[in-house]
Amino acid sequence: MEVVWGRLLMDTFQESTFRDRPSTFAKDGKRIWLFPQLPKGKLYNIRRIIAWTLLIFFYLAPFLKFRGEPLIFLNFLERKFVLFGNTFYPQDFHLLVLAVIALIVFIVLFTVIYGRIFCGWICPQTVFLEFLYRPIEHLIDGNPKNQKKLAEQEMDFLKAIKRVLKHGIYLIISFFTILTFITYVTGTAKGGQILHEWPMQRFGILMGVMAFTAIHYFVFAWFREQVCTMVCPYGRLQGVMLDENTIQVAYDYKRGEPRGKGENSLKGDCINCFKCVEVCPAGIDIRNGTQLECINCTACIDACNSVMKKIRNPSGLIRLASEKSISEGKSIRFNGRVIAYSLVLLVLLSVITYLFTIRGDVEITINRSPGTMFQEYGTDRYSNLYNLQMVNKTNSETDIELKLLSPEGEIILMGDPLKTAKGEVANRDFLIVLKKEQVVRSNIHLEIGVLEKGKQIEKISTTFVGPNALDK
Ligand code: SF4
Ligand code: SF4
Repeated sequence: MEVVWGRLLMDTFQESTFRDRPSTFAKDGKRIWLFPQLPKGKLYNIRRIIAWTLLIFFYLAPFLKFRGEPLIFLNFLERKFVLFGNTFYPQDFHLLVLAVIALIVFIVLFTVIYGRIFCGWICPQTVFLEFLYRPIEHLIDGNPKNQKKLAEQEMDFLKAIKRVLKHGIYLIISFFTILTFITYVTGTAKGGQILHEWPMQRFGILMGVMAFTAIHYFVFAWFREQVCTMVCPYGRLQGVMLDENTIQVAYDYKRGEPRGKGENSLKGDCINCFKCVEVCPAGIDIRNGTQLECINCTACIDACNSVMKKIRNPSGLIRLASEKSISEGKSIRFNGRVIAYSLVLLVLLSVITYLFTIRGDVEITINRSPGTMFQEYGTDRYSNLYNLQMVNKTNSETDIELKLLSPEGEIILMGDPLKTAKGEVANRDFLIVLKKEQVVRSNIHLEIGVLEKGKQIEKISTTFVGPNALDK
């Protein structure tokens, strides 16, 4: 895709700056540090609102409660997961598998249609880097020109102060980010207890936190945009997911070329001001076509629109468009691949919605106790021993009863009543007793009703084993 469009542009452009290496690699393989401008414009303002909503949500979600539970609680140790007030247990694993499949299909479908908008607008890597770490850098080191000057100059007192301040703040943010991650897994109560016992009683956890803090700090203080080109598998998959109809950040080379300043009527709309390059956090020139590094952050759209406004040209020289819409001037089309993905996604979403709606608050499994056969119960009856496992997925205590719906018989519960606290998994044994004359076969089909406050919430089928009719 990049090659095809690249060739098209090569024919069109008077000058070309195509690379054979990532934008952050110099010819000798050394790292090229990027010092992008902070963008200004409508799209950036919307991105900032989205990013800060996501950041606030991330830092507060483990502490907020909904229906008596944390908003998000991923308790791997107890295999209990709380999402927006709904508690999930290993018994709901099929829902998780379907949700993950739906998410993957959704991401592929979304990418085919809208390109890498996720990367530039929602991805945690971009949100943390562009809306938390980068603005701090601008605050302490100044604008990109000053940042570059500071990076290149010898260490002096002012530079040392700035470096300590910036990296100190980065470390504090990384540390609290990792603590928040841990709170998602431990819950606030346990997390508070761990913090209270630090450092010696929880030396292992302390080491883990330090290691992850160091990784987080390394990614955002040093490795930065290289995650998107060298580490992220989603970024690397773009080449197979994008096609000529995909909507992405694109430069209208038909309108912009030949680029350059001046009154020459043969010139295109691009005045070659490089504002679009200066704001690019990936260090690329979008006028060279779609590139591996582009995260579709739309910063170049904002930059170019402000230039177009100043020179009184229509905005949209760089805009969200498909390659086809620019090269042929046609409107965006939905191809067969998009329709097929949409149908698969629709089916998956319908199945998941259905499974969520039929997912009961109390999950009950009844099995005949392994290795047991029928027993005589008094002189005229037989009994079978059963085991009941009950998972209370609600946020309150449940109190259920069992009733033998067919055939007529008796259920004798062994032990405590069938009460379970919220989130509790309970096991109980019980007997089912049938009259001998009812046990006409060695295997009798049973229907057991599960009642909560007198209302039947579930019907469970099982079998009753009796002596072979011929043996009686
Ligand atoms: S080319 Fe534009 S959209 Fe792509 S990363 Fe750079 S600024 Fe963002
Ligand atoms: S900001 Fe617009 S006018 Fe300036 S170089 Fe980029 S595309 Fe050309």
